[in-house]
Amino acid sequence: MDCLFCKIAAGEIPSNKVYEDAEILAFHDIAPQAPVHVLVIPKEHIPSVDGVNAENADLVAHIFTKIPKIAASLGLTGGYRVISNCGDDAGQTVKHLHFHILGGKPLSLTMA
Ligand code: 5GP
Ligand code: ZN
Repeated sequence: MDCLFCKIAAGEIPSNKVYEDAEILAFHDIAPQAPVHVLVIPKEHIPSVDGVNAENADLVAHIFTKIPKIAASLGLTGGYRVISNCGDDAGQTVKHLHFHILGGKPLSLTMA
């Protein structure tokens, strides 16, 4: 499958990693929209939030148990935003489930 984030998860394309375990990976966004902008992905290919189901819900829950730890490791003591764009109207450009962690300054009510 020709999926950018599957290739990043497999290490075929390099990324600036901030967290990794057997199931998920977090790495800095290549085009940061805030002082801190990290993406958290499952290593398994899930196309978007629309692909979350009973079979992979534990994996998504695992991501959400790690997000606060990743945010803390990034020094986001003032808070942060978690975003997942789902589909074309939301501006999803990479069709592999990912959660943006944005922070490092007071954020406006747009994406960053
Ligand atoms: P989306 O627009 O799908 O919600 O988010 C995709 C994100 O992936 C964008 O913020 C974009 O900057 C980031 N991105 C695209 N290609 C790469 C890449 O090769 N490496 C990294 N680290 N981020 C990427
Ligand atoms: Zn993928």
